[in-house]
This record gives sequence, C-alpha cells and structure tokens, in this order.
Amino acid sequence: RLTTLSLAARMRTAHLHRHAAALFAKAHAEAKESESTEDISSEDEEEEETSASLPPLCVSPQEQHTHKEDKTQEEQEEKSKSKKRASVLLLYTGGTIGMRKDPKTGAYFPDSEYLAERLGQGLLPRDAAMPDLSYSAYTPPLDSSDMNSAHWSAIAKAVGEEYDEYDGFVVITGTDTMAYTASALSFALENLGKPVVVTGSQIPISVVRSDGVANLVDSCLVAAHGRAAELAECVVVFDGHVLRANRTTKLKAWGISAFKSFSYPPLGEGGVRFVTFPDRTRRPAAAPFRCRPHFSPDVALFSMYPGAERFAPAALAALLAQRVRGIVLEAFGTGNAPTEKALMATLASLCHEHGVVVCVVSRCPHGAVSLGSYSGGYCLAQAGCTSCHDMTVEAAFTKLSWLLGDPALPVARVRELMEQDLRGEVTQGLFLHPNRSLRVLV
Ligand code: ASP
Repeated sequence: RLTTLSLAARMRTAHLHRHAAALFAKAHAEAKESESTEDISSEDEEEEETSASLPPLCVSPQEQHTHKEDKTQEEQEEKSKSKKRASVLLLYTGGTIGMRKDPKTGAYFPDSEYLAERLGQGLLPRDAAMPDLSYSAYTPPLDSSDMNSAHWSAIAKAVGEEYDEYDGFVVITGTDTMAYTASALSFALENLGKPVVVTGSQIPISVVRSDGVANLVDSCLVAAHGRAAELAECVVVFDGHVLRANRTTKLKAWGISAFKSFSYPPLGEGGVRFVTFPDRTRRPAAAPFRCRPHFSPDVALFSMYPGAERFAPAALAALLAQRVRGIVLEAFGTGNAPTEKALMATLASLCHEHGVVVCVVSRCPHGAVSLGSYSGGYCLAQAGCTSCHDMTVEAAFTKLSWLLGDPALPVARVRELMEQDLRGEVTQGLFLHPNRSLRVLV
C-alpha cells in the first residue's frame, strides 16, 4: 500500500521529493561537469524547493488521490488500520528495476514515474506484514554506472533528513554499482538504529519474469521489521538473501542471484519463513545516529596484472598529476604485485612523499590480504601501502573515499582507520571470524 500518510507527513514527503531530486540533480550535474547547471548548494535549498524550475514531483496516483480533503469512510478506516503498520520510505535512484522500453528505440531507460505509477496501482501485495510506504524518486533516475560519490552523498543526506520519520528505508538502485552505493551508505550513516536496505532487480518490473517485485517485498519486510529483530545496519536484500552492505559484491551479470558476500555469511534468508541470524548482525548502536555524507572524489582503483610493471609507474604518476589522494590497489592473491624496482619506487614516492593512501585489496573474492606472506606483498608494505585484509574492493574504495572526505582526519589516521573495523566491513584478526566459530588450528 503506497502512502496513507497524514497531510503533514505527505507534505514532508513531497518536500523530500523535491529536496532529494534537487540533491540528485546537483550530483548528476556535477558529475557531468555541466556549466549550465543552476547553483543548488545546500544554503540555497530552501529557496530551490519553492522554485518552479525544480524537477517535477513523482507522486503516485494514490498519493494524489489522498490529497483530497474529503476522504471516504473506507479511506478513514484504512488510515486507522495503517497506524499499526511500520512505515518505510522508498528512494528510487534509477536502475533496471524501474526501467521500461522506449517504443521508438527498443532500449530500456529508467523512469521514476513508471515505478511510482506501478506502486500506486498495487504492484506490491496488500498484507498485514507490509509497511505503509512513501516513495521518493531522484531526478534524473540513473543507470547506476553513472553514479559516483556525489550521488552516494545525496542518498545519505536524504536518509539522514528523514531518519526519525520512518521505521526503515529502502534505497532502490541499479545493480551494477549497488555494492558501492550500499557500502558507501554503511559508512556515511553512523550508529544506525534501524535498517537501511538497498535493492534493485536484474529484470525490470515491466517484464514478465521480473525479480523486482520479490526483491521489493523482501526489502520492505526487512526495512519494516528489521529493528524488532535487532537488524539495524545497511544491508543488500536480493533474491531472498540479506547481506551486509559492505561485504557485498555483484557476482552475476545475468543470473538472478546476482550478489554474494564472500567473507561474511548472510544476515538473513527468505525460505518458507523469512529469518535473520542475530549472532551475525551488528547490535543497534547505543550512540545517537548521525549522518556524515562526505566523500572525497579523489580516489582511484588500480589493478595489478602480469606485466603491470610496464605501464604502472607512468599511470600512477599520471594519477598523481590529477591530485589523487587515495588508491585502492587490486593485487594478486594475499596482496602481491610485481617486485620490479621502478614500480615499487613509484609506490613508495606516492605513499611517503606525497601522502597518498594506497590500500591493498585482493583480486580473489575469498581470503584476505597478508602483506608479509610473499616478497611481492612485503615490498608493498615497505613502500608504505596499507592492507585492507578481507575487505571487498567496493568496501575499501568507499571507505577510503569516506575517510578522505573528512577534512579533520590526517593521512596517518586514515591509514590506521582503513585497517580497523568501522561497520563490520573487515574481519579483525586474520582468519578469525567471531561470528562463524572459525579458529586457526595450525
Ligand atoms: N545497468 C543497470 C544499472 O546498474 C543494471 C541493473 O540495474 O540491473 O543501473
């Protein structure tokens, strides 16, 4: 059931529509470095929200209907019943789930109004377990490959601003960079006391075999009832799995079970009953929630491959010329790279002379970086690189962007924090998984 809110709440939601739309439009415009973009900096947001030049609101037909003052008795009854329900805010950023086919070109494109319309027409089942839903869409809705740290920041801000008003949040986004967005949110949203779910689908809801409805239903249920089950963190809900956001990786381009968490077990699973595993989840935070949506865009991802020493020194120097501040280095196995002198000298100069934070992740999805195990890793450590242990590339990249986005943190502290567990993204102690009763015997 979509939006059976009081007038005040509806107005707030409309406000969010505009606010979120403005933030997203700004992020997108920045990403495209458009000269013609209007200035919608945070100081000007109040003014922007009343401006006629804002992107149009995406209000579902049902939401429009409930704007009428003269409610029928049935609506009044619905409203009083709905008071017992949890409330969840859906934030659509784009992605396959809400795409429909352009009849002219035959290509799929994200359409925020289409998803709103379908939700308003009863796309999701009316069931006592389902929450009351409010919907907000970003303008323009994007293919997630067009998203970057400015968009993560806009989403985090929207959740932060609405945090007290809902029992949970569902961020609906494209699958291609969903693991990045989900990881980024896990860092920006501190001390969560309720679930923030990230989901999407492999097949649009406009197509007969879509996985979108099941993913949306599961996500709404997790967002609505997660807090009661002490699930109060950022998660990805996809194909019946609840995965820790910052442990998640997109594994399949075609398969419906597209996401996997290699180094941490699922937090929940939808079988005949939908269950969560409380010994794996993070306890709801005692400290007050805060939103710190700052991300540095000056972070790059750099991959090792056999023969990388041929181009790597020049490529790394080129990154430095572009004022890179952080590099996630995807290395072999337990964190190895070619030991060739010029490459190591370049890395040492980046780390020691230029204060670039170079963080090593493994190209293997299973296992962890251990920089002392082989001479390749030892050389990286000597050059000043930092180990990301068993962090995913997505977690390492977004964590580094987030830490470097905090102007108060000196480089040495950023390096320290990269090695520490902030949101359950890294296993402390090699091969020791406290939630899996796993111990090294020999
Ligand atoms: N290219 C799409 C996106 O990431 C794929 C999807 O949503 O599944 O936005």
